[in-house]
Amino acid sequence: MRHFRFLFVFAAAAFLDAAEASAQLAPGKVALVIHGGAGTILRASMTPEREREYREKLTEALNTGYQILLKGGSSVDAVEATLRVMEDSPLFNAGKGAVFTSAGTNELDAAIMDGKTLKAGSVAGLHTVRNPISLARRVMDHSRHVMMIGDGAERFAREQGLELVSPHYFWTERRWRSYERSRDSAEKARSGKKGSGSLEADKKYGTVGAVALDKEGNLAAGTTTGGINWKEYGRVGDAPIIGAGTYANNASCAVSATGQGEIFIRRTVAADICARVKYLRQSVSQAAEDVVMKELVTVGGEGGVIAMDRLGNIATPFNSAGMYRGWVAADGKLIVKIYKDD
Ligand code: ASP
Repeated sequence: MRHFRFLFVFAAAAFLDAAEASAQLAPGKVALVIHGGAGTILRASMTPEREREYREKLTEALNTGYQILLKGGSSVDAVEATLRVMEDSPLFNAGKGAVFTSAGTNELDAAIMDGKTLKAGSVAGLHTVRNPISLARRVMDHSRHVMMIGDGAERFAREQGLELVSPHYFWTERRWRSYERSRDSAEKARSGKKGSGSLEADKKYGTVGAVALDKEGNLAAGTTTGGINWKEYGRVGDAPIIGAGTYANNASCAVSATGQGEIFIRRTVAADICARVKYLRQSVSQAAEDVVMKELVTVGGEGGVIAMDRLGNIATPFNSAGMYRGWVAADGKLIVKIYKDD
Protein backbone atom coordinates (compact mmCIF):
# COMPACT_ATOMS: atom_id res chain seq x y z
CA MET A 1 0.00 0.00 0.00
CA ARG A 2 2.82 2.35 0.97
CA HIS A 3 4.49 1.53 -2.28
CA PHE A 4 1.30 2.29 -4.17
CA ARG A 5 0.94 5.74 -2.62
CA PHE A 6 4.56 6.47 -3.42
CA LEU A 7 3.89 5.71 -7.05
CA PHE A 8 0.86 7.90 -7.10
CA VAL A 9 2.90 10.91 -5.99
CA PHE A 10 5.33 10.40 -8.82
CA ALA A 11 2.55 9.81 -11.30
CA ALA A 12 1.14 13.18 -10.42
CA ALA A 13 4.49 14.70 -11.26
CA ALA A 14 4.19 12.95 -14.66
CA PHE A 15 7.77 13.41 -15.57
CA LEU A 16 8.73 12.93 -19.20
CA ASP A 17 11.85 13.62 -21.19
CA ALA A 18 10.10 12.73 -24.40
CA ALA A 19 9.43 16.22 -25.66
CA GLU A 20 13.08 17.10 -25.43
CA ALA A 21 14.07 14.33 -27.77
CA SER A 22 11.22 14.33 -30.21
CA ALA A 23 12.96 15.81 -33.22
CA GLN A 24 12.39 13.77 -36.36
CA LEU A 25 15.18 12.20 -38.31
CA ALA A 26 16.00 12.74 -41.94
CA PRO A 27 16.46 9.47 -43.87
CA GLY A 28 19.84 7.92 -43.19
CA LYS A 29 20.17 9.50 -39.76
CA VAL A 30 20.66 7.36 -36.70
CA ALA A 31 19.55 7.48 -33.06
CA LEU A 32 20.24 5.59 -29.85
CA VAL A 33 18.62 5.62 -26.41
CA ILE A 34 19.65 3.69 -23.30
CA HIS A 35 18.60 3.14 -19.71
CA GLY A 36 20.55 1.87 -16.72
CA GLY A 37 17.58 1.09 -14.52
CA ALA A 38 14.87 2.99 -12.65
CA GLY A 39 13.94 3.14 -8.98
CA THR A 40 14.67 5.02 -5.79
CA ILE A 41 17.51 7.00 -7.30
CA LEU A 42 17.78 10.25 -5.36
CA ARG A 43 20.34 13.05 -5.42
CA ALA A 44 20.40 13.00 -1.64
CA SER A 45 21.67 9.44 -1.56
CA MET A 46 24.29 9.82 -4.30
CA THR A 47 27.88 10.97 -3.79
CA PRO A 48 29.33 13.29 -6.47
CA GLU A 49 31.90 10.64 -7.25
CA ARG A 50 29.33 7.90 -7.74
CA GLU A 51 27.22 10.20 -9.89
CA ARG A 52 30.20 11.00 -12.07
CA GLU A 53 30.90 7.28 -12.50
CA TYR A 54 27.37 6.70 -13.71
CA ARG A 55 27.40 9.64 -16.09
CA GLU A 56 30.74 8.56 -17.54
CA LYS A 57 29.67 4.97 -18.07
CA LEU A 58 26.36 5.96 -19.65
CA THR A 59 28.30 8.29 -21.96
CA GLU A 60 30.78 5.56 -22.87
CA ALA A 61 27.96 3.12 -23.64
CA LEU A 62 26.15 5.66 -25.82
CA ASN A 63 29.32 6.56 -27.68
CA THR A 64 30.05 2.89 -28.34
CA GLY A 65 26.69 2.24 -29.97
CA TYR A 66 26.48 5.59 -31.72
CA GLN A 67 29.83 5.14 -33.47
CA ILE A 68 28.61 1.81 -34.85
CA LEU A 69 25.44 3.44 -36.15
CA LEU A 70 27.34 6.36 -37.69
CA LYS A 71 29.55 3.96 -39.60
CA GLY A 72 26.48 2.29 -41.06
CA GLY A 73 26.37 -0.63 -38.61
CA SER A 74 23.04 -2.29 -37.87
CA SER A 75 20.79 -1.35 -34.97
CA VAL A 76 21.20 -4.90 -33.64
CA ASP A 77 25.01 -4.54 -33.59
CA ALA A 78 24.70 -1.17 -31.86
CA VAL A 79 22.36 -2.51 -29.18
CA GLU A 80 24.59 -5.49 -28.45
CA ALA A 81 27.80 -3.45 -28.25
CA THR A 82 26.22 -0.74 -26.11
CA LEU A 83 24.85 -3.25 -23.63
CA ARG A 84 28.14 -5.16 -23.39
CA VAL A 85 29.77 -1.99 -22.08
CA MET A 86 27.10 -1.75 -19.39
CA GLU A 87 27.25 -5.46 -18.57
CA ASP A 88 31.00 -5.20 -17.99
CA SER A 89 30.52 -2.38 -15.48
CA PRO A 90 29.81 -3.16 -11.81
CA LEU A 91 27.56 -0.07 -11.67
CA PHE A 92 24.53 -1.69 -13.26
CA ASN A 93 22.45 -4.71 -12.35
CA ALA A 94 23.47 -6.64 -15.45
CA GLY A 95 26.50 -8.82 -16.15
CA LYS A 96 29.27 -7.96 -13.68
CA GLY A 97 27.06 -5.95 -11.31
CA ALA A 98 24.16 -8.42 -11.12
CA VAL A 99 22.13 -8.63 -7.91
CA PHE A 100 21.87 -11.80 -5.82
CA THR A 101 19.01 -14.25 -5.48
CA SER A 102 17.74 -15.25 -2.04
CA ALA A 103 20.05 -18.27 -2.38
CA GLY A 104 23.07 -15.96 -2.71
CA THR A 105 23.61 -16.76 -6.39
CA ASN A 106 23.43 -14.63 -9.54
CA GLU A 107 20.97 -15.51 -12.30
CA LEU A 108 21.14 -13.39 -15.42
CA ASP A 109 18.49 -12.75 -18.08
CA ALA A 110 18.70 -10.92 -21.42
CA ALA A 111 16.90 -10.45 -24.74
CA ILE A 112 17.47 -8.79 -28.09
CA MET A 113 15.03 -8.20 -30.95
CA ASP A 114 15.40 -7.10 -34.56
CA GLY A 115 12.57 -4.78 -35.62
CA LYS A 116 13.08 -5.54 -39.32
CA THR A 117 12.70 -9.32 -39.21
CA LEU A 118 10.92 -9.70 -35.85
CA LYS A 119 13.56 -12.26 -35.00
CA ALA A 120 14.38 -12.36 -31.31
CA GLY A 121 16.77 -14.14 -28.97
CA SER A 122 16.39 -14.48 -25.25
CA VAL A 123 18.17 -16.21 -22.36
CA ALA A 124 17.41 -16.68 -18.67
CA GLY A 125 18.89 -18.14 -15.51
CA LEU A 126 22.56 -17.85 -16.52
CA HIS A 127 25.41 -18.22 -13.99
CA THR A 128 28.57 -18.28 -16.09
CA VAL A 129 28.04 -16.27 -19.28
CA ARG A 130 29.95 -13.01 -19.04
CA ASN A 131 27.79 -11.15 -21.58
CA PRO A 132 24.23 -12.49 -21.62
CA ILE A 133 23.21 -10.00 -24.32
CA SER A 134 25.66 -11.66 -26.73
CA LEU A 135 24.21 -15.07 -25.94
CA ALA A 136 20.73 -13.69 -26.65
CA ARG A 137 22.10 -12.48 -29.99
CA ARG A 138 23.49 -15.95 -30.73
CA VAL A 139 20.16 -17.54 -29.91
CA MET A 140 18.53 -15.13 -32.37
CA ASP A 141 21.09 -15.59 -35.14
CA HIS A 142 22.36 -19.15 -34.68
CA SER A 143 19.55 -21.25 -33.25
CA ARG A 144 16.08 -22.29 -34.34
CA HIS A 145 14.66 -20.90 -31.12
CA VAL A 146 13.74 -17.67 -29.41
CA MET A 147 14.41 -18.51 -25.77
CA MET A 148 16.95 -20.73 -24.02
CA ILE A 149 17.45 -21.10 -20.29
CA GLY A 150 19.79 -22.41 -17.61
CA ASP A 151 22.19 -25.26 -18.30
CA GLY A 152 21.09 -25.67 -21.92
CA ALA A 153 21.67 -22.00 -22.66
CA GLU A 154 25.11 -22.18 -21.05
CA ARG A 155 25.97 -25.25 -23.08
CA PHE A 156 24.93 -23.37 -26.21
CA ALA A 157 27.13 -20.43 -25.10
CA ARG A 158 30.10 -22.80 -24.87
CA GLU A 159 29.38 -24.26 -28.31
CA GLN A 160 29.16 -20.74 -29.71
CA GLY A 161 32.55 -19.89 -28.25
CA LEU A 162 31.28 -17.14 -25.95
CA GLU A 163 33.30 -16.16 -22.92
CA LEU A 164 32.36 -18.12 -19.81
CA VAL A 165 33.41 -17.02 -16.33
CA SER A 166 33.38 -18.48 -12.85
CA PRO A 167 30.16 -17.63 -10.97
CA HIS A 168 32.44 -15.63 -8.61
CA TYR A 169 33.05 -13.14 -11.38
CA PHE A 170 29.61 -11.69 -10.63
CA TRP A 171 30.34 -11.10 -6.93
CA THR A 172 30.55 -7.41 -6.05
CA GLU A 173 30.68 -5.99 -2.56
CA ARG A 174 27.89 -3.49 -3.17
CA ARG A 175 25.40 -6.10 -4.36
CA TRP A 176 26.41 -8.50 -1.63
CA ARG A 177 25.63 -5.80 0.96
CA SER A 178 22.15 -5.38 -0.55
CA TYR A 179 21.74 -9.11 -0.33
CA GLU A 180 22.78 -9.10 3.32
CA ARG A 181 20.38 -6.26 4.13
CA SER A 182 17.55 -8.16 2.50
CA ARG A 183 18.51 -11.35 4.30
CA ASP A 184 18.53 -9.54 7.66
CA SER A 185 15.16 -7.97 6.91
CA ALA A 186 13.69 -11.29 5.86
CA GLU A 187 14.98 -12.90 9.06
CA LYS A 188 13.53 -10.09 11.16
CA ALA A 189 10.21 -10.32 9.33
CA ARG A 190 10.15 -14.07 9.93
CA SER A 191 10.78 -13.65 13.64
CA GLY A 192 8.12 -10.90 13.82
CA LYS A 193 10.58 -8.07 14.52
CA LYS A 194 10.40 -4.71 12.82
CA GLY A 195 12.78 -3.80 10.01
CA SER A 196 11.45 -5.48 6.91
CA GLY A 197 11.54 -1.99 5.34
CA SER A 198 14.95 -2.42 3.79
CA LEU A 199 13.56 -4.92 1.27
CA GLU A 200 11.67 -1.88 -0.02
CA ALA A 201 14.62 0.47 0.39
CA ASP A 202 16.68 -1.63 -2.00
CA LYS A 203 14.19 -1.07 -4.80
CA LYS A 204 16.55 0.00 -7.48
CA TYR A 205 16.01 -1.66 -10.79
CA GLY A 206 19.50 -1.47 -12.26
CA THR A 207 18.63 -3.38 -15.41
CA VAL A 208 20.10 -1.94 -18.60
CA GLY A 209 18.53 -1.55 -22.01
CA ALA A 210 19.16 0.00 -25.42
CA VAL A 211 17.04 0.90 -28.43
CA ALA A 212 18.67 1.89 -31.73
CA LEU A 213 17.72 3.10 -35.20
CA ASP A 214 20.23 2.50 -37.98
CA LYS A 215 20.86 4.17 -41.34
CA GLU A 216 18.63 1.63 -43.08
CA GLY A 217 15.75 2.74 -40.86
CA ASN A 218 15.71 -0.47 -38.85
CA LEU A 219 14.91 -0.55 -35.14
CA ALA A 220 16.30 -2.95 -32.53
CA ALA A 221 15.89 -3.31 -28.78
CA GLY A 222 17.81 -5.17 -26.09
CA THR A 223 17.60 -5.58 -22.32
CA THR A 224 19.92 -7.37 -19.88
CA THR A 225 19.64 -7.83 -16.12
CA GLY A 226 20.45 -9.67 -12.94
CA GLY A 227 16.73 -9.46 -12.13
CA ILE A 228 15.65 -8.10 -8.77
CA ASN A 229 17.56 -8.24 -5.51
CA TRP A 230 16.56 -11.20 -3.28
CA LYS A 231 14.49 -12.82 -6.04
CA GLU A 232 13.73 -16.49 -5.54
CA TYR A 233 16.14 -18.80 -7.32
CA GLY A 234 14.66 -19.72 -10.69
CA ARG A 235 12.63 -16.51 -10.95
CA VAL A 236 12.59 -14.95 -14.42
CA GLY A 237 11.65 -11.30 -14.91
CA ASP A 238 10.32 -9.29 -17.81
CA ALA A 239 13.65 -8.44 -19.50
CA PRO A 240 13.94 -11.71 -21.48
CA ILE A 241 10.20 -12.01 -22.13
CA ILE A 242 9.58 -10.77 -25.66
CA GLY A 243 6.76 -8.24 -25.49
CA ALA A 244 7.12 -7.63 -21.75
CA GLY A 245 10.54 -6.04 -21.14
CA THR A 246 11.82 -6.06 -24.72
CA TYR A 247 10.18 -5.55 -28.11
CA ALA A 248 11.05 -4.16 -31.54
CA ASN A 249 8.99 -3.88 -34.70
CA ASN A 250 9.74 -1.49 -37.56
CA ALA A 251 5.98 -1.18 -38.07
CA SER A 252 5.51 0.49 -34.69
CA CYS A 253 8.39 1.04 -32.28
CA ALA A 254 11.10 -0.52 -30.14
CA VAL A 255 11.06 -0.64 -26.34
CA SER A 256 13.22 -1.72 -23.42
CA ALA A 257 11.81 -1.62 -19.90
CA THR A 258 13.03 -1.53 -16.32
CA GLY A 259 10.99 -2.00 -13.17
CA GLN A 260 8.96 -4.53 -11.22
CA GLY A 261 9.17 -7.37 -13.72
CA GLU A 262 6.17 -9.37 -12.55
CA ILE A 263 3.85 -6.47 -13.30
CA PHE A 264 5.58 -5.68 -16.58
CA ILE A 265 5.04 -9.29 -17.67
CA ARG A 266 1.35 -9.27 -16.75
CA ARG A 267 0.86 -6.02 -18.67
CA THR A 268 3.05 -7.00 -21.65
CA VAL A 269 4.39 -3.48 -21.33
CA ALA A 270 6.69 -3.28 -24.36
CA ALA A 271 4.20 -4.91 -26.73
CA ASP A 272 1.38 -2.75 -25.38
CA ILE A 273 3.29 0.45 -26.17
CA CYS A 274 4.01 -0.72 -29.71
CA ALA A 275 0.42 -1.88 -30.21
CA ARG A 276 -0.82 1.58 -29.24
CA VAL A 277 1.50 3.11 -31.82
CA LYS A 278 0.34 0.66 -34.47
CA TYR A 279 -3.40 0.39 -33.87
CA LEU A 280 -4.34 3.56 -32.00
CA ARG A 281 -1.88 5.58 -34.04
CA GLN A 282 -0.58 7.19 -30.89
CA SER A 283 2.80 8.89 -31.00
CA VAL A 284 5.52 6.84 -29.33
CA SER A 285 5.78 9.35 -26.49
CA GLN A 286 2.01 9.33 -25.90
CA ALA A 287 1.88 5.53 -25.96
CA ALA A 288 4.84 5.17 -23.58
CA GLU A 289 3.45 7.82 -21.26
CA ASP A 290 -0.01 6.24 -21.12
CA VAL A 291 1.40 2.85 -20.25
CA VAL A 292 4.03 3.98 -17.73
CA MET A 293 2.30 6.92 -16.07
CA LYS A 294 -1.28 5.61 -16.14
CA GLU A 295 -1.62 1.85 -16.67
CA LEU A 296 1.39 0.84 -14.59
CA VAL A 297 0.75 3.36 -11.84
CA THR A 298 -2.75 2.03 -11.20
CA VAL A 299 -1.32 -1.40 -10.44
CA GLY A 300 1.78 -0.29 -8.53
CA GLY A 301 4.15 -1.11 -11.39
CA GLU A 302 7.15 1.00 -10.52
CA GLY A 303 9.68 1.61 -13.31
CA GLY A 304 10.11 3.11 -16.73
CA VAL A 305 10.87 2.47 -20.39
CA ILE A 306 12.88 3.77 -23.27
CA ALA A 307 11.08 3.75 -26.61
CA MET A 308 11.73 4.94 -30.14
CA ASP A 309 9.85 4.88 -33.43
CA ARG A 310 11.21 4.64 -36.98
CA LEU A 311 11.45 8.39 -37.28
CA GLY A 312 13.78 8.55 -34.32
CA ASN A 313 11.24 9.99 -31.88
CA ILE A 314 12.41 9.05 -28.40
CA ALA A 315 10.46 8.67 -25.17
CA THR A 316 11.88 7.88 -21.71
CA PRO A 317 8.99 8.06 -19.20
CA PHE A 318 9.37 6.65 -15.68
CA ASN A 319 7.16 6.71 -12.59
CA SER A 320 9.96 6.11 -10.07
CA ALA A 321 12.17 8.72 -8.40
CA GLY A 322 14.84 8.43 -11.07
CA MET A 323 16.07 6.46 -14.05
CA TYR A 324 19.59 6.32 -15.46
CA ARG A 325 19.11 7.24 -19.07
CA GLY A 326 20.66 8.89 -22.10
CA TRP A 327 20.29 9.29 -25.82
CA VAL A 328 21.71 10.66 -29.02
CA ALA A 329 18.82 11.89 -31.15
CA ALA A 330 18.54 13.62 -34.53
CA ASP A 331 20.69 16.59 -33.56
CA GLY A 332 23.61 14.27 -32.69
CA LYS A 333 23.80 15.72 -29.16
CA LEU A 334 24.58 13.25 -26.41
CA ILE A 335 22.35 13.66 -23.35
CA VAL A 336 22.70 11.79 -20.05
CA LYS A 337 20.25 12.11 -17.16
CA ILE A 338 19.64 10.46 -13.82
CA TYR A 339 17.10 12.32 -11.73
CA LYS A 340 13.64 13.60 -12.41
CA ASP A 341 14.76 17.23 -12.38
CA ASP A 342 17.98 16.66 -14.35
N1 ASP B 1 12.72 -5.57 -14.73
C1 ASP B 1 13.77 -6.30 -14.05
C2 ASP B 1 13.21 -7.57 -13.52
O1 ASP B 1 12.13 -7.57 -12.97
C3 ASP B 1 14.38 -5.53 -12.95
C4 ASP B 1 14.95 -4.21 -13.36
O2 ASP B 1 14.38 -3.53 -14.19
O3 ASP B 1 16.03 -3.85 -12.83
O4 ASP B 1 13.89 -8.56 -13.58
